[in-house]
Amino acid sequence: MKIGILAVQGDFAAHAEMLAGMGVETIEVRTREDLAGCDGLILPGGESTTQLQFLQEEGLYQAIQKFAAEDKAIFGTCAGAILLATEVKNPKQESLGLLDMTVLRNGYGRQVHSDVVRGSSSLKKAPLEMVFIRGPIIERVGAGVEVLAEYAGKPALVQKGRLIASAFHPELTNDTTVHERFLKMAARKSNGTESRGIARR
Ligand code: GLN
Repeated sequence: MKIGILAVQGDFAAHAEMLAGMGVETIEVRTREDLAGCDGLILPGGESTTQLQFLQEEGLYQAIQKFAAEDKAIFGTCAGAILLATEVKNPKQESLGLLDMTVLRNGYGRQVHSDVVRGSSSLKKAPLEMVFIRGPIIERVGAGVEVLAEYAGKPALVQKGRLIASAFHPELTNDTTVHERFLKMAARKSNGTESRGIARR
């Protein structure tokens, strides 16, 4: 299994480091060719406006939409979640429109208000450590979008099919829970069975 990580800007290296620690092969994605052959894609945190512009310039915008249409797994963290959303506010911004939700950019405050908190999730009993860095508030989720974790009464981790998005940064903690979930999604074939070759810890 090979996971692509969009490596334009932002904290892509932190995702690569976490996946390396889990024994998973990764590739930095900057072109459509890089994306070909990936079983899953991570859209990291950073500045969604800059990332969006790059995706449009490099033709990756359509390539990622096609990747999703092929039912490949995509994980968006923070800016990546903004790119996945169907509606972006504060300010209004174009996006890939893949995951039915409305996000409010910088909804948890500016950089100074960034914080490490604990929230409850359906992924494990112990609380999930959540690092917020000018993260978006997930204001609304559409039908069929599952809320896997919440913070301050708002969805913080959501999933629909093979798309998963977090308002926080699991890659900046030592907790691999969310990445494990994503790898399971990426390893599952369309008929619901897991493909061979997923690295186990
Ligand atoms: N505030 C950034 C944006 O709106 C996201 C911040 C992040 O990814 N940590 O794009």
